[in-house]
Amino acid sequence: MTYRTRFAPSPTGYLHLGHAYAALTAFEAARQAGGTFLLRIEDIDRTRCRPEYETGIYEDLRALGMEWPEPPLRQSDHLADYEAALETLRTRGLVYACYKTRKELAQAAQGAPQEGDAVAGDGPAEREPSWRLSLKAACEALGAEWKRLGFVETGHGPDGETGPQTAWPEVNGDVVLGRKDIGVAYHLAVVIDDAREGITHIHRGHDLFAATHTQVLLQRLLGLPTPLYCHHALLLDDQGRRLAKRKGSRSLRDYRIEGMDTEAIKALIAATAKA
Ligand code: GLU
Repeated sequence: MTYRTRFAPSPTGYLHLGHAYAALTAFEAARQAGGTFLLRIEDIDRTRCRPEYETGIYEDLRALGMEWPEPPLRQSDHLADYEAALETLRTRGLVYACYKTRKELAQAAQGAPQEGDAVAGDGPAEREPSWRLSLKAACEALGAEWKRLGFVETGHGPDGETGPQTAWPEVNGDVVLGRKDIGVAYHLAVVIDDAREGITHIHRGHDLFAATHTQVLLQRLLGLPTPLYCHHALLLDDQGRRLAKRKGSRSLRDYRIEGMDTEAIKALIAATAKA
C-alpha cells in the first residue's frame, strides 16, 4: 500500500519541541510503513512568514536526522491554484463574500459563523470581503451525501475518538477560504496540497482535529480524496500549557545553541510526551 505523509509547518517562528514531536511522529510512521515523508512549507501568509524561519525548519529537522526525498512544496509557489479553486467554489455558489471582521461576527452571534451573520456588513464600498464557505449551500449541493461525510481516525482525537467518524463541519461554521488580506486561507490550501502530493496518511496534533471536519467537506466538494487521519496529543509545558511560538516556548534552535545534541533533544521530547 502507498504510504505518504507530511509535516506542514508555517515559517512564522522557530520550531519548538511540539513541532519536533509532530514531525518525528510522521517521519517514524512513514519509515515503519516503508512509506514517504514529505515536508511542506505552509507560507501563504507572507505578512507573518520570514525566510530565516524557513531556513530554521530545514536546519532543525535535519539536525533531528530527518530527510525528505522530494523538494519541499512551498505554498507561496502555488497561490494561483488556490485562487482557481476558490473561483470554482464561487462559481458554484458555495462561498459568499463576508464584510464583517471576526470580532464583529463574534459580537453578532455567539458560536460558529453562519451566512445570515454576514449579509448585513459594512458593504463592498468600505472593505475588501473575505470569502466564507457556505455550509447551507454545501449541504444543498451534496444532498444525501452530506450525512455520509466522514473520515477514519487511526489514532485518537482529543476525546478519544477512534475509527470511523462522522464529519460535523458545523463545529467550525462558515470558515474563511479566501482571506481579505492574502486572498487564500489555510483550509483550502491544505486540502489542495494533500491531494496534489498524494498524501494518504495525515499525522498531526489534536489542535487540528476539529479542522478535519471542515477539510473532509472541502475534499468532497472539490472531488479530492480523503486521507486517513492520525491525531496525537500535544506536548505540554511544565505548567500543563501547550507549547506555542507566540508564548515564547524555547525553540529547538535554543536547545542546540545551549549545547544539547540530537539524542538529548529526542530524549527530552520523549520524556515530555510521556509526562
Ligand atoms: N500549517 C499548519 C500548522 O502549522 C499544519 C497543517 C496541517 O498539518 O494540516 O499548524
